[in-house]
Amino acid sequence: GTGLVTVGETLGLLVAEDVGPLSLARGMRLSMGGAESNVAIGVARLGVPATWIGRLGRDPVGDLVERHLLAERVRALVRRDDAPTALMLRERRTGGSSHVSYYRHGSAGSHLCPEDLPEGVIEGAGVVHLTGITPALGPGPAATVREAVRRARAAGVPVSVDLNFRSRLWDAATAGVVFRELAAGADMLFAGDDEARIALGVDDPDAATPAELATALAELGPSEVVVKRGRHGATARIEGAVIDVPAVPVTAVDAVGAGDAFVAGYLASRLTGRDVHERLSTAAVTGAFAVTVPGDWEACPRPHELTLLTSGETVHR
Ligand code: ATP
Repeated sequence: GTGLVTVGETLGLLVAEDVGPLSLARGMRLSMGGAESNVAIGVARLGVPATWIGRLGRDPVGDLVERHLLAERVRALVRRDDAPTALMLRERRTGGSSHVSYYRHGSAGSHLCPEDLPEGVIEGAGVVHLTGITPALGPGPAATVREAVRRARAAGVPVSVDLNFRSRLWDAATAGVVFRELAAGADMLFAGDDEARIALGVDDPDAATPAELATALAELGPSEVVVKRGRHGATARIEGAVIDVPAVPVTAVDAVGAGDAFVAGYLASRLTGRDVHERLSTAAVTGAFAVTVPGDWEACPRPHELTLLTSGETVHR
């Protein structure tokens, strides 16, 4: 296989146009978001085939998601469901921080089940990418993730997992058990340092350095582990070696989406046969791009744009 295949829930996203309490918002911008489809878009922008599998409602928000994915050249293998497409509302409380409310309980995406994985698609992938969000959506989604891992492994397809803890969906203790299982089934594992601690059952933030967290996660199974550390960059442990990846300095406008863009850069680079250092430096650039723009996936670069953040010239004619 050559391309990325991912499965998960994509939601309609309403973002307040102005900074301030959502209860006073006068306008909301309608878009879409979802960790897995964000990664698929990031990969497709870099010219690597990407497929997203999921359920959407028979509603205009479902149409919006399909239109965006089509426009981004992401192949969408979608079942339309009687339940509505989930929504999230994002309040921009201050310039730098936002707060999300979910309207996703009983959504179309939460009805995902193993039968939604079409025959041969997982088996034909270059990488299968999953997140720790999907198992929190219900028993069907949890079984779907497990089945995707099983089928990928049986076919010799590398499995990538981004833990992506969502405190609104479950508690850390419950998530931790599932995170360990996901880590054990993964070849590539991405985690924030907080998520690494949840997976490892470490409470004290000072108990382990990022390198120690990455090493402990690697002991659960994956040969490539990346601990993402926001503007502090990332620490990877890949085939036994620890590598520090500095962040690319940019003016941050919106931190949401950096993790997904980072993963997209890493996986696209891996799918095109790049070495570890090139994968990580591309990931740092795509992650940095994401924080320069308010959207979650809109800023993802195309290949010729990768050098824009590091080149000194500001006017490109
Ligand atoms: P999110 O869940 O908000 O999308 P995350 O917590 O999974 O993000 P981060 O650690 O915030 O992921 O970001 C991933 C990568 O993106 C970082 O390792 C870094 O390379 C890059 N990045 C994040 N924030 C910044 C920043 N302010 N400036 C430059 N690069 C950044």
